[in-house]
Amino acid sequence: MFDALSERLGSIFDGLTGRGALSDKDVSEALREIRVALLEADVALPVVKDFVEKVRERAVGEEVIRSVKPGQQVIKIVYDALVDMLGSDEEENHLRVDTPPAVVMMAGLQGSGKTTTTGKIAKRLADRGKKKVLLASLDVRRPAAMEQLAILAKQAGETVSSLPIIPGQLPADIARRALQAAKIGGYDVLFLDTAGRTSIDEQMMSEAAEIAAIANPSEVLLVADALTGQDAVETARRFHERLPLTGLVLTRMDGDGRGGAALSMRAVTGLPIKFLGVGEKLDGLDAFDAKRVAGRILGQGDIISLVEKAAEHYDAEKAERMAAKLKKGEFDLEDLAEQLRQMQRMGGLGGIMGMMPGVRKAKEAMASSNIDDRVLKRQEAIISSMTRQERRKPALLNASRRKRIAAGAGVDVADVNKVLKMHQQMATMMKKMRTKGGMKNLMGMAQ
Ligand code: GDP
Repeated sequence: MFDALSERLGSIFDGLTGRGALSDKDVSEALREIRVALLEADVALPVVKDFVEKVRERAVGEEVIRSVKPGQQVIKIVYDALVDMLGSDEEENHLRVDTPPAVVMMAGLQGSGKTTTTGKIAKRLADRGKKKVLLASLDVRRPAAMEQLAILAKQAGETVSSLPIIPGQLPADIARRALQAAKIGGYDVLFLDTAGRTSIDEQMMSEAAEIAAIANPSEVLLVADALTGQDAVETARRFHERLPLTGLVLTRMDGDGRGGAALSMRAVTGLPIKFLGVGEKLDGLDAFDAKRVAGRILGQGDIISLVEKAAEHYDAEKAERMAAKLKKGEFDLEDLAEQLRQMQRMGGLGGIMGMMPGVRKAKEAMASSNIDDRVLKRQEAIISSMTRQERRKPALLNASRRKRIAAGAGVDVADVNKVLKMHQQMATMMKKMRTKGGMKNLMGMAQ
């Protein structure tokens, strides 16, 4: 699906990696080309803009790792931004069907592959999770759809069954009957395959909304045909307005569409992509993995892991250097800026704090001092408006210098003072902690 895009990006990257050094102009030119490539692949315009801006920001803020070429570093930045765009939270991409009987409601337009996908996911749960699965079709207008689901259930495995069809029953009543049957029959998962239409209509939406209210599903998946491009994105957006969707399945990823819909979907709807349909058969389903998709599009796996390793090494070296400085009781504003950058890289304060056990107190203290991620960015901007000399020797910062820095960073002098005060407090704290040893960065401090 991403062949054309992949080829375009490949040639842009070839141009970048061939060189030893990159000027701002080189990076801007590459970004312009990436922008065109994404638009040509039919990625939604706002998504492209966001993406390019993010890459630009990171490319500017990134420290140069000496052991890799700048072009390689840019590829890694593009890769990371692509993973973010596709949804980097792996947990979120998993299907939640833990408490039996877990209800999975399927929604989507007719022909999107909804019924087939229901069978595919059921087979997967039966094969890999040894789950007992019940399938129920609520498409009362199309008896053929009901029969299709019954056939799929048979093909999906021994532990997959379909709810017996009772002609003339209303969708809401079928849903209730299915819930009952799932409970009594000891099923782990119940799929409710709702009726689709060829286009979005009010009756379909209100029917689906009613089913969602009755069945209290743990997942409401929208199935969308990736080959329909931006129409699929628009469909998802409209469904999301009416239904408590929890995720997306993109079908026909085995076709040769331009791929833009698949790439825009997550960013436009905010919903995680859970599966990709990659064929007509029941095993034509892939669990969605943003890294794998991004890797396939960029096709630069070696470079990406090379940069990752180099960055790890580089961070470790930096931490060592920092530790050595602290041992000597030095902590200047450059060190503070580095700490702020590290905090941002780790997903901001929420990220770092969330990772550490037993830091409730520190977390509360941070929360009450109103430090959030925007503040981190502003503080970093303030420090970067200082000269190198000022960063190394904060004592130089008299009133007129502070005024200049505030103007440079677009903040008030009071904000500059706050940063200086924070630096002072931290330096003092670091000095005190020096005797305890083992402190490498802020993470250590909060432990
Ligand atoms: P529904 O109306 O949304 O329930 O759609 P169906 O499940 O009946 O699927 C419509 C057609 O699309 C069928 O012929 C399926 O075999 C086909 N289909 C579904 N998913 C995929 C997919 O991922 N790849 C391909 N190539 N075909 C698919």
